[in-house]
Amino acid sequence: MLYDDAEKWSREEIEKAQIERLRRSLQKAAASRFYGALFREHGVNPDAVRGLDDIRRLPFTTKKDLRQAYPDGLLAMPHADMVRMHVSSGTTGAPTVIYHTKNDLDWWASLMARCMHMVGIRPTDVFQNMSGYGLFTGGLGIHYGAERLGCLTIPAGAGNTKRQIKLITDFNVTAVHIIPSYALHLANVLRDMGVDPASLPIRFALVGAEPYTEEARRRLEEMFDMKVYNSYGLSEMNGPGVAFECAEQRGMHLWEDAYIAEIVAPETGEPLPDGETGELVMTTLGREGMPVIRYRTRDLTRFLPGPCPCGRAHRRIDRIAGRCDDMIIIKGVNIYPMQVEAILMAMPEVGQNYLIELDRVGVMDQITIKVEVKEEFFVEDMRALTGLQKRITSRLRDEILVTPRVELVEAKSLPQGEGKAKRVIDKRGTDS
Ligand code: AMP
Ligand code: ZN
Repeated sequence: MLYDDAEKWSREEIEKAQIERLRRSLQKAAASRFYGALFREHGVNPDAVRGLDDIRRLPFTTKKDLRQAYPDGLLAMPHADMVRMHVSSGTTGAPTVIYHTKNDLDWWASLMARCMHMVGIRPTDVFQNMSGYGLFTGGLGIHYGAERLGCLTIPAGAGNTKRQIKLITDFNVTAVHIIPSYALHLANVLRDMGVDPASLPIRFALVGAEPYTEEARRRLEEMFDMKVYNSYGLSEMNGPGVAFECAEQRGMHLWEDAYIAEIVAPETGEPLPDGETGELVMTTLGREGMPVIRYRTRDLTRFLPGPCPCGRAHRRIDRIAGRCDDMIIIKGVNIYPMQVEAILMAMPEVGQNYLIELDRVGVMDQITIKVEVKEEFFVEDMRALTGLQKRITSRLRDEILVTPRVELVEAKSLPQGEGKAKRVIDKRGTDS
């Protein structure tokens, strides 16, 4: 059973709609100050778009462009037609603002409802949204999707873990939205309270907003006895509802009736063949207030080859491997935090949190990985702990090709925020 007709579309139907919608998006975008000038500079004529390949001739839009156009250089319709704005959660530099009209919000809610319906959530489910509200799109974006689907929707927001748990049990919550680092933390708090996470009524969890590994997903599914579905989105493309896993849990269907996605080489911007990992570039097809064309997301992924057994023809993207800008270069070797997480989360002794610290000792770079150890394994027996530390070090060395210093720390001792986790602290270059 499908929520939306567009889920049934064949490749031909998808691509036909994409060409028409791209033309319309470009026409709309041209009305904004930013794209008006950009299109004139690059000789872009929206009416000349004939095929999907024409998209490659269009200029990219970058985060820097959005910052420079702050606050409203990308508005394609009068300010008075806008009914909501969100601000991207980036912690560095100037913010970027995304505006939405009533129609934009309507479409966003239906995309989000489609995602939730796809995995089996129904109006009879009680849905708790455990992510921050406010400017972060994981709040209202998910919220309106759940209401659109018809679920009783609890806007719990982030944090206040004890209250979250009370809501879940008092209202028999069967579906939640939660970011991965907070979900792992929640399991710790439950255990401290003497509650087995698996005893909660939750059956579905939408988990996203930050990178996490297949190993972390499995851990969450086992601890809570629930299904975890990967949810991808970014404020510039609305927020959640861009790509989402189906019941197969093998990659995320990217809704191609709403977006055109490309994968390019991060260094050159040249398109990569299907199956190769590169930077995801996205174009909005349905947004009227603020269309965004060929946006460089900086997220690294690939299109998964072949059709999905669920029958949907919308192509799937792989789990996000990281961002172009989270690559750590140490002793000339490139490392992504998710490589570290995959090793750690697969080890039963390792707790729910870790932190990567980069230092410079003399002229040498040093990588230290602080690893929480589960209480039951954090024993007095030095030999056992030293053995564990050695095993972690050697597995990490095999994966990342440099030898890290591994520090074992007690469960729940590493900093745990309510928002997206900060996995890497780079102290190099900060010495005076
Ligand atoms: P925001 O600026 O708050 O909209 O954050 C969007 C960014 O969060 C994306 O560009 C990704 O880097 C990250 N993100 C969102 N969902 C996921 C996911 N499921 N897996 C990995 N990273 C994600
Ligand atoms: Zn599928």
